[in-house]
Amino acid sequence: MYGHGVNCSHPYCSDSATYKVAARWSHGRFAELKTYGFACSDHLEEVFQEAENRRPDYTLRPGEVIEEVAIYRFEPGKRDRQLQRVWGLEENYRT
Ligand SMILES: [Zn+2]
Repeated sequence: MYGHGVNCSHPYCSDSATYKVAARWSHGRFAELKTYGFACSDHLEEVFQEAENRRPDYTLRPGEVIEEVAIYRFEPGKRDRQLQRVWGLEENYRT
Protein backbone atom coordinates (compact mmCIF):
# COMPACT_ATOMS: atom_id res chain seq x y z
CA MET A 1 0.00 0.00 0.00
CA TYR A 2 1.09 3.47 -0.83
CA GLY A 3 0.86 5.39 2.42
CA HIS A 4 2.79 8.61 2.02
CA GLY A 5 0.96 10.23 -0.86
CA VAL A 6 -1.04 13.42 -0.61
CA ASN A 7 -4.42 13.77 -2.24
CA CYS A 8 -5.47 16.41 -4.72
CA SER A 9 -6.98 19.51 -3.04
CA HIS A 10 -9.96 19.61 -5.37
CA PRO A 11 -13.09 19.00 -3.25
CA TYR A 12 -14.44 16.18 -5.45
CA CYS A 13 -11.19 14.44 -6.21
CA SER A 14 -9.36 11.81 -4.24
CA ASP A 15 -6.55 11.12 -6.68
CA SER A 16 -2.97 11.30 -5.54
CA ALA A 17 -1.41 14.70 -6.04
CA THR A 18 1.40 15.00 -8.53
CA TYR A 19 1.86 18.76 -8.21
CA LYS A 20 2.29 21.12 -5.33
CA VAL A 21 1.15 24.73 -5.62
CA ALA A 22 3.21 26.96 -3.34
CA ALA A 23 4.96 30.29 -3.05
CA ARG A 24 8.44 30.86 -1.73
CA TRP A 25 8.26 32.73 1.54
CA SER A 26 11.19 34.20 3.37
CA HIS A 27 11.92 36.16 6.48
CA GLY A 28 15.52 37.24 6.81
CA ARG A 29 17.65 34.17 6.24
CA PHE A 30 14.79 31.76 6.82
CA ALA A 31 12.92 30.54 3.74
CA GLU A 32 10.35 27.88 3.00
CA LEU A 33 7.51 27.09 0.66
CA LYS A 34 4.10 28.30 1.74
CA THR A 35 1.74 25.66 0.43
CA TYR A 36 -1.55 26.63 -1.18
CA GLY A 37 -2.63 23.23 -2.35
CA PHE A 38 -1.90 19.96 -4.05
CA ALA A 39 -3.23 18.82 -7.39
CA CYS A 40 -3.49 15.88 -9.72
CA SER A 41 -2.85 16.68 -13.38
CA ASP A 42 -6.59 17.09 -14.07
CA HIS A 43 -7.09 19.80 -11.45
CA LEU A 44 -3.79 21.62 -11.56
CA GLU A 45 -5.23 24.60 -13.41
CA GLU A 46 -8.08 25.07 -10.91
CA VAL A 47 -5.91 24.64 -7.85
CA PHE A 48 -3.30 27.03 -9.24
CA GLN A 49 -5.78 29.75 -10.16
CA GLU A 50 -7.54 29.43 -6.83
CA ALA A 51 -4.16 29.87 -5.11
CA GLU A 52 -3.39 32.97 -7.14
CA ASN A 53 -6.74 34.44 -6.14
CA ARG A 54 -6.12 33.68 -2.50
CA ARG A 55 -2.58 35.04 -2.33
CA PRO A 56 -3.46 38.74 -1.89
CA ASP A 57 -5.33 37.88 1.32
CA TYR A 58 -2.12 37.09 3.07
CA THR A 59 -0.86 40.04 5.12
CA LEU A 60 2.89 40.27 5.31
CA ARG A 61 4.57 41.20 8.53
CA PRO A 62 7.65 43.46 8.43
CA GLY A 63 10.61 41.60 6.96
CA GLU A 64 8.52 38.94 5.25
CA VAL A 65 8.72 38.42 1.52
CA ILE A 66 6.41 36.18 -0.46
CA GLU A 67 7.05 35.44 -4.12
CA GLU A 68 4.61 34.57 -6.87
CA VAL A 69 2.56 31.36 -6.73
CA ALA A 70 4.50 28.56 -8.37
CA ILE A 71 3.95 24.97 -9.46
CA TYR A 72 6.27 22.22 -8.28
CA ARG A 73 6.35 18.60 -9.27
CA PHE A 74 5.34 16.88 -6.06
CA GLU A 75 7.22 13.82 -4.93
CA PRO A 76 6.31 12.36 -1.53
CA GLY A 77 9.22 12.23 0.84
CA LYS A 78 11.21 14.95 -0.90
CA ARG A 79 12.05 18.14 0.89
CA ASP A 80 10.72 21.42 -0.45
CA ARG A 81 14.09 22.53 -1.71
CA GLN A 82 14.42 19.33 -3.76
CA LEU A 83 11.17 19.83 -5.62
CA GLN A 84 11.43 20.82 -9.23
CA ARG A 85 9.58 23.95 -10.32
CA VAL A 86 7.53 23.55 -13.50
CA TRP A 87 7.78 26.96 -15.14
CA GLY A 88 6.13 25.93 -18.40
CA LEU A 89 2.86 24.99 -16.73
CA GLU A 90 2.71 28.23 -14.76
CA GLU A 91 2.89 30.23 -17.98
CA ASN A 92 -0.09 28.32 -19.36
CA TYR A 93 -2.26 28.87 -16.32
CA ARG A 94 -1.37 32.40 -15.29
CA THR A 95 -4.28 34.71 -16.04
ZN1 LIG B 1 -7.75 16.11 -8.77
